[in-house]
Amino acid sequence: MAPPPSFGANSAAARDIANVLHPYTDLESHQQVGPVVITRGQGVRVWDEAGKEYIESVAGLWCAALGFDNERLVQAAVTQMRKLPFYHGFTAKSHEPMIDLAEMLIARAPVPMSKVFFANSGSEANDSAIKMVWYMNNALGRPLKKKIIGRVKGYHGITIGSASLTGLAANHRSFDVPLPGFLHANTPHHYHGARPGESEDDYATRCARELEDLILEEGPETVAAMWAEPVMGAGGVILPPRGYFPKIQAVLKKYDILMVADEVICGFWRTGTYWGSQSFDIQPDILVCAKALSSSFLPISAVMVNEPVFQAIAKESHTIGTFGHGFTYSGHPVPAAVAIETLKIYDDLDIGSHVAVTGPHMQAELQRRFAGHPLVGEVRGIGLIGAIELVADKAAHANFPPAAKVGPRLSRLCEENGVIGRTLANDVLAFSPPLIMTKDEIDEMLTRVGKALDELTVQLRREKIA
Ligand code: PMP
Repeated sequence: MAPPPSFGANSAAARDIANVLHPYTDLESHQQVGPVVITRGQGVRVWDEAGKEYIESVAGLWCAALGFDNERLVQAAVTQMRKLPFYHGFTAKSHEPMIDLAEMLIARAPVPMSKVFFANSGSEANDSAIKMVWYMNNALGRPLKKKIIGRVKGYHGITIGSASLTGLAANHRSFDVPLPGFLHANTPHHYHGARPGESEDDYATRCARELEDLILEEGPETVAAMWAEPVMGAGGVILPPRGYFPKIQAVLKKYDILMVADEVICGFWRTGTYWGSQSFDIQPDILVCAKALSSSFLPISAVMVNEPVFQAIAKESHTIGTFGHGFTYSGHPVPAAVAIETLKIYDDLDIGSHVAVTGPHMQAELQRRFAGHPLVGEVRGIGLIGAIELVADKAAHANFPPAAKVGPRLSRLCEENGVIGRTLANDVLAFSPPLIMTKDEIDEMLTRVGKALDELTVQLRREKIA
């Protein structure tokens, strides 16, 4: 298909259409519609090539925690590039950034952890952890204990293993995943999942019972681990009902099943505590993190494992002669140096105290501005992660038909009003702004979103959709 005439032949948009295969994009429509080309960033804002300014309400992809410029991170990268631009960790080679970062993560872990393995993305970290769980159970002489439980609407990435763990249709359909051996427990979303009159506590108890039923049906001797995000991110910013994780973990403990916390979004103060695990009483055996680990200035992710997991893996690697897993860029010194500096900046800025003020402010403002809006079914969140979910019927908690494309239309209107916003399935508008966002910037962002929502309401009423 030829680029549409509205783009100049040599424009960035035309060259994008001609050459780029975009992640997470309707590729056919893109040939007509074209990209939004972002050229620079500063603080919580980015600018496109026409000079239009946007507030980034999701910090890119829930990740640029320190915003879109930071001289300390630039210097950390430059200094490390000059000193040692590349080295690796294979066959016992090491370097200081990898050692220092591992030490810092262990010191900050929510529960005692033993060792850190590095990868480049959340998906790779989750795939690595899946393989570690399998490897561990082979070491322990229980080769049947291999099934992995994710959750419907959980998001853990898109490599073959992590996509199998993910519980979203768009990541499975036509890709021939999930692989066998991946199970999906129910989404613990009180707003949609609870029975009439069922309390959060009773609902959490039922979620744990349903998990136990699933494990018993499969055979506990075949189930190795359960993965969970503290707050489900890409699946819709879904907070667990009160008491959910302690109840879930009691079931897992009973059947000797590992708990893996996917902290790729929730880690590093997003939920108001250093880790999402601390906000929701999770005691993980394995913890996966990425994104805010380096404020996403460079790609890096990490898998932390506790001592029993490490001991089993170490024993198996000794039997085989090597732990035959690792990426060329595992613990790459430049992203590691940037991650070290990022963690120092979080400490120096006391970003936790900042989020302790701005998080509750954002939650209160989301409620005040949107809870009573005729299109808004639920306002939810914790810390600096939140969402508003649009519904066709507030009383019935019923979403709009997907064909109405209400969410994508809201995203577009947000952009027109100067906010890059991310809508998820079920017309959920997510908020996960840079952690450095001030109260005034939160207000400005929500004022722009409010305008977009009002414009959407007028449009939907005119079209008799709402
Ligand atoms: N886990 C979670 C919870 C995520 O949100 C994401 C990415 N949004 C991933 C894993 C995958 O990370 P990546 O895109 O870096 O592979």
